[in-house]
Amino acid sequence: EGGSGGIVITDEWPGYSLDLFSYPTHYSGDLDCVIIPHGVIMDRTERLARNIMDDLGDHDIVVLCVLKGGYQFCADLVDRIKALSRNSSRTIPMRVHFIRLKSYLNDQSTEDLHILGAEDLSFLAGKNVLIVEAIVGTGKTMKALLKHVEAFRPKMIKVAGLLVKRVPQNSACLPDYVGFEIPNRFVVGYALDYNEYFRDLNHICVISESGKKKYKI
Ligand code: 5GP
Repeated sequence: EGGSGGIVITDEWPGYSLDLFSYPTHYSGDLDCVIIPHGVIMDRTERLARNIMDDLGDHDIVVLCVLKGGYQFCADLVDRIKALSRNSSRTIPMRVHFIRLKSYLNDQSTEDLHILGAEDLSFLAGKNVLIVEAIVGTGKTMKALLKHVEAFRPKMIKVAGLLVKRVPQNSACLPDYVGFEIPNRFVVGYALDYNEYFRDLNHICVISESGKKKYKI
């Protein structure tokens, strides 16, 4: 597994200027900086796929993609695992299932967590499950989801999280596979949204104050 908490992005890291990369012009002024360029996300994902293959190769797995924010990471991660499966003697037969969670309004976590598409997960019984999430903040969401999934008695549950935030309240509940550990700032892009905006941005960026105002509901 590597036992790694991921690539650490420190609080001092100012990020890259947006002018150094291309991004949709409809977001100019809405972002402060790029904290993880798309290419770096892809390179890290490739390595996570290998770690997952090393641990789970030759097991059947059910990938549980946590929508909406997780769709891009899940698609890219599954893609990399597929590439490894067709180029080595070890393979991971995969099924992919989608569930949707909603707990955020503007940039604030709300208390009530809604799980959609998770009504009947009884097919998870006895299966190896890989939960794929884009971001873990306080870990409350992940904890609630784990509890929900455990109730269906899978054989094993692993969690892959692209981003883990350094938040004071983080409840020692960390994914088994972590892409990056990031500062406690609100990030968007690579399918992560702010009120449904910014999913169409491929880098992971920090939203600006004016961006927050512009898309507030
Ligand atoms: P937690 O329960 O761990 O505090 O929050 C996890 C959920 O909050 C994630 O699944 C994600 O939907 C949302 N979230 C937390 N931090 C961010 C962020 O910086 N950007 C975006 N777009 N969503 C976030």
